[in-house]
Amino acid sequence: MTGDVNILQETIRHALRLGADVAGTVPAAELINCPSALKDGRKGSERDHGTYIILGLYHDPATPEMDHWEEGRGTPGDRQLGAIGRELAGWLHRTHGIGAKLIPYQLYDGGIYLKDAAVLAGIGIMGRNNLILVPGFGPRIRFRAVWADIESEPPAPMTITPPCTECPGYCISTCPRGAFEAGTYSRERCMERMNADKSRKDEMIEHCRGCELACP
Ligand code: SF4
Ligand code: SF4
Repeated sequence: MTGDVNILQETIRHALRLGADVAGTVPAAELINCPSALKDGRKGSERDHGTYIILGLYHDPATPEMDHWEEGRGTPGDRQLGAIGRELAGWLHRTHGIGAKLIPYQLYDGGIYLKDAAVLAGIGIMGRNNLILVPGFGPRIRFRAVWADIESEPPAPMTITPPCTECPGYCISTCPRGAFEAGTYSRERCMERMNADKSRKDEMIEHCRGCELACP
């Protein structure tokens, strides 16, 4: 196991060298019954062995085009994360002989609950805006995951004072759809806005980031 720990630490350092802004690991089995999976009544991971390496990339509000979504291509930020993940998986195989692969983004394609995974990997905490608050980056981080055929221990959860307790809730008051009016995030209300964005049929869709960008 010591060897595995060393390899995983080296893997995280390599992910940062490749361009990820944050990275962490979580045993794949931990995702099976993660909170979002239980809420949705489904399995949160197809895999019960190995480790997910969670990669995060800062999406600077000064470069909003990183987040512009295009049919069939996703966003430039996600493509960048995908390239880092593929490179990392190849490196794990070449350097350590460990099988690894980039996990699809979408759950229905075999993806995982990335926000739950980021919390379980000790990268950040869940904010009232239903986004992961990451020290140094706030909620302006997008995630992808690589699965690696190597065992690991669950990391310690992040212990920081949740900033939301002292905040008047800028994310809540800025939402044009009142997605937080019931006291918790309403995916349905947020999706109404996302679908309205898509229905404009623009080549590049700039989705609402109100609750993300309002967060200090
Ligand atoms: S705006 Fe305030 S309440 Fe909302 S996520 Fe950020 S810190 Fe938390
Ligand atoms: S993305 Fe926009 S519509 Fe969705 S919850 Fe955030 S502010 Fe509301």
